[in-house]
Amino acid sequence: MRFRTLSFSTRSLTPSKTLLPLVLRRRLVSALSAAPSPSPMAATEESLRRALAEKQTAVDAQSEAVRALKARPSVSKDEIDAAVEVLKALKVEQGAAAKRLQSAVSSNSDGSSKEAFRQAVANTLERRLFYIPSFKIYRGVAGLYDYGPPGCAVKSNVLAFWRQHFVLEENMLEVDCPCVTPEIVLKASGHVDKFTDLMVKDEKTGTCYRADHLLKDYCKGKLEKDLTLSPDKAAEFKHVISVLDDLSSEELGAKLKEYDIRSPDTGNHISDPYPFNLMFQTSIGPSGMLPGYMRPETAQGIFVNFKDLYYYNGNMLPFAAAQIGQAFRNEISPRQGLLRVREFTLAEIEHFVDPEDKSHPKFVDVANLEFLMFPREEQLSGKSAKSMILGEAVSEGTINNETLGYFIGRVYLFLTSLGIDKDRLRFRQHLPNEMAHYAADCWDAEIECSYGWIECVGIADRSAYDLRAHSEKSGVPLVAHEKFSEPREVEKLVITPSKRELGLAFKGNQRIVVEALEAMSEKEALGMKEALDDKGEVDFQVCTLGKSVRIKKSMVSISMERKKEHQRVFTPSVIEPSFGIGRIIYCLFEHSFYIRQRKSEDEQLNVFRFPPLVAPIKCTVFPLIKSQQFDEGAKLISKSLTAARVSHKLDVTGTSIGKRYARTDELGVPFAITVDSTTSVTIRERDSKEQIRVSIEEVASVMKEVTDGQRTWFDMLWKYPTHVTTHADEL
Ligand code: AMP
Repeated sequence: MRFRTLSFSTRSLTPSKTLLPLVLRRRLVSALSAAPSPSPMAATEESLRRALAEKQTAVDAQSEAVRALKARPSVSKDEIDAAVEVLKALKVEQGAAAKRLQSAVSSNSDGSSKEAFRQAVANTLERRLFYIPSFKIYRGVAGLYDYGPPGCAVKSNVLAFWRQHFVLEENMLEVDCPCVTPEIVLKASGHVDKFTDLMVKDEKTGTCYRADHLLKDYCKGKLEKDLTLSPDKAAEFKHVISVLDDLSSEELGAKLKEYDIRSPDTGNHISDPYPFNLMFQTSIGPSGMLPGYMRPETAQGIFVNFKDLYYYNGNMLPFAAAQIGQAFRNEISPRQGLLRVREFTLAEIEHFVDPEDKSHPKFVDVANLEFLMFPREEQLSGKSAKSMILGEAVSEGTINNETLGYFIGRVYLFLTSLGIDKDRLRFRQHLPNEMAHYAADCWDAEIECSYGWIECVGIADRSAYDLRAHSEKSGVPLVAHEKFSEPREVEKLVITPSKRELGLAFKGNQRIVVEALEAMSEKEALGMKEALDDKGEVDFQVCTLGKSVRIKKSMVSISMERKKEHQRVFTPSVIEPSFGIGRIIYCLFEHSFYIRQRKSEDEQLNVFRFPPLVAPIKCTVFPLIKSQQFDEGAKLISKSLTAARVSHKLDVTGTSIGKRYARTDELGVPFAITVDSTTSVTIRERDSKEQIRVSIEEVASVMKEVTDGQRTWFDMLWKYPTHVTTHADEL
C-alpha cells in the first residue's frame, strides 16, 4: 500500500523531508530547476530534434534570401528560380526530418504506431470478449470493466500461477477478508486522512482532473506534437515527467501555472491542486452509525489478523500471509482502459520479518538473476534503467536488504513466466519523496506498454509501521517474541495492571482496559505514572472502547526495573509485494499480441502468443471435415481431455479449417487438434504452425504434458513424426 501522490510525505508530514540525507534533499530542491542531460536512449530523439532545428534555420535563411533577391531590381528570373529550387529542396529535407522525429516520438521500437497497435489490441480484446465495459447497455461507467469468458480464464490462470509461485512455494498463509471495512481500521492505517490524489477543478464547469495527469499530458503532448521544440525544452519536459511522482502540491501547482495549463475540455482556468480522498465511503448496518469504506487494498485484513496468524505459525518468524481480493479506489479521472479502474483485483503478500535480521535463506536462488533496474540515483540524474545482477544490487546496498531483493527476484520470475517481455520490464526504485517516511526502501515492477511504463507491482519494505499503527489504535499488541537461550539483564518498563481493581471498576470492559494499559509506549506510561503520583488518578483514552476511562493509582503499577529477560518482544517489519492483477493482464495482452499476414489475401490475422500457462483455453479440437466418424473421434478426444483436466473447445462448425485456426489464434489457444483420421490426429502449434501426428490414445497425455509445462513443444517435435503438409487451407 502506498499513500499516493506525496500526500503522506510532503503534504502532511514534512518531517519526512527532515529525515532525508542532505545531499538528496539538495537534489530534490533542484529537481525541477535543473533538467539533466538526456539519457543515451533519448539521444536519437535529441539528435533528430537538433537536425530538424537546423533544417528549419536553413529554410528560414533561404526564404529570406529569396525575398531579398525578389526585392532587387536587376536580378534575372533564372537567378530567382535557382534560389526557389534550393528553398524547395530544403523544405523537402525539413519535411523528411519532421517525419523522422514524429515517428521517433510516437512509435514502438519496431516502428509501428503505438496508437494503431493499441487500437488493434483493444478491438480484438473487446470483440472476443476478453473484457467488456461494465453496464454497457446503460452506456457504462468510467473505470469499471467486466471480464468476459476468455478474460476470466486468463485471470484465473494468472491467479492460479500466483498461488503456486508465491503461496505454495513460500508456505504462505492465505486469508480472505471482507471488502467492507469499518472506519477505525482505515483510520489507524492512515487511509482516512491521507489516501488522496491531488485534484484540480475547471473554475467554470467544476469538472475534476488529476493534477499530475494534466501536467504529464501537457509535457507528453509537447514532446510528441510540437516538433519545433528546442532540445533543451524537450529535455525539461522529459525531466518533469520523470520527477512527477516526486512533486509536492505546491510544486505541481507552480508548474501548472508556469505552463499555463488549462482545463482540457473547455480551455478554462483551473484551481490550485488540492487533495481528494479516493476511498468509497459507506455505512455498515441500517442505522448509519457505523461508518465504513470499501477497502482500497487488501493488506489491512492481514495486519489486523497478525496476532492469530503468528500463533497459527507456531509463534515463529519470518512468515508471510497472502490475500487475493477486490480493491476499490474512486479514481478522479479513470482512463487508459484496464490500467486505471475503480475496482480491481489485488494480490498482496505481507512477509513479516525480524527488523534486526532481514536476510533470506533462499536469496541464493535468485542472486544471479540479471535484469533492468532503475535505481533512484539514475532517475535523479536523468539516466536510463540499467541491467544489474540482483546479488550485486543487494550487496552494494542499492536494494536495502536480502528479503526485499528476494521478492524482487521472485516477482521478476513470476512476470516473465507469464509471458511479460523481459526487455520491457524494469524495477524502479521510489524517489525519496515518493516513499512514505517510515518505509525502508520501495521498488515498483514497471512494464512498458503502448501507454508507457506502467507500475504493475509495488514491492516495499514498510518497516514496522502498519503493525504499530494497529497496535496503538486497537490496544492489542501486534508483536513477536524471540526466546533467549540465556536470560539477559535489562532495564525495563514494567506495567502491571491490577486485574481485580480494574474488574471492579470496569466489569465487562476489564480485559480491554488491561490490554490498552499494557500496550502503552514507554513515553505514555511514564507520563501516566507522573500524573498518578501527582494527582492519584488520570483520564486514559481507550480507543477500542471509543472513550476515556479514569485510572486510579491502585489500578496499575508502572516502574522501571532491572529485569532478567527471557525473550525480546518486538514489532516485526513487513515486506509487501502488491500485485495489480488487471494491469499485469493488460500488459500481458499487449506483449502477447501480434499480427500475422495472411498468405493468400491482403488480410491480417490477430494472434495472442500466450504461453500455455495463461492461455484461456489450452487446445481446440476440430474434425477436418463434417463426417460422423470424425465428429465421433473429436468427441472421444474431448472426453479424454476433460478427464485429463485440459481445458479445450470442440469446434464442429464445419467452416474451413483455416478460419477455425484463425479464430483460435485470436483467442491465444496454443494448440489445435485436427481429427483427420480414425486412428491419429495432427496437433498444430499456434506460433510456428508446425504440426505433429499423434495417435488418438495419446492425444490427451501429450496435451497434458505440454500445457502443464512438464514437456515443451520442442520435446514433442523430437518425439513425434512431423506432419509436413499443413492442412489444405492453413493460412
Ligand atoms: P498501491 O497500493 O497504490 O501501490 O497499488 C498496488 C498495485 O495496485 C499497483 O502496483 C497497481 O498495479 C495496482 N493499482 C493501483 N491503482 C490501480 C487502479 N486504479 N486500477 C488498476 N490497478 C491499480
